[in-house]
Amino acid sequence: MRSKYKAMVLSCMDPRFQLPVFNFIKKKNLVSKHSSFTIAGAAVGVTHSKFKKWHQAFLDNLKTSIKLHKIEKLIVVNHEDCGAIKLAENKKNYIEDKIHKNSFQKLEKIITKKFPKLKLEFYIIKLDQKILRVRSLR
Ligand SMILES: [Zn+2]
Repeated sequence: MRSKYKAMVLSCMDPRFQLPVFNFIKKKNLVSKHSSFTIAGAAVGVTHSKFKKWHQAFLDNLKTSIKLHKIEKLIVVNHEDCGAIKLAENKKNYIEDKIHKNSFQKLEKIITKKFPKLKLEFYIIKLDQKILRVRSLR
């Protein structure tokens, strides 16, 4: 039997991106068919060594949503100009795009190991609200 719930959406707490993320969910026809995990940095928050305390909480929530809601997919939405990246990197010379991609790769590795059946999609919302899909490795 197919579940009526489809996905968990992992996104950042940044106030500027709540509406764009919601509009994106709407565009994907996932309103009320998704669970949400919103945390500073999105994929960065749940993978970066600076935020270690947050990693397990995310995985526990994801596991719970898989069990309770029978979701089939994790949709990860990072965004440009993320304050969590600034905090985590703590230096001026970093390439934001690289941090996003590192976080996606790390998360993909973790998910593949812990929840191999779960589908994955990665996105970055730009400041102009354009949405960029980042290819998953699998
Ligand atoms: Zn952010």
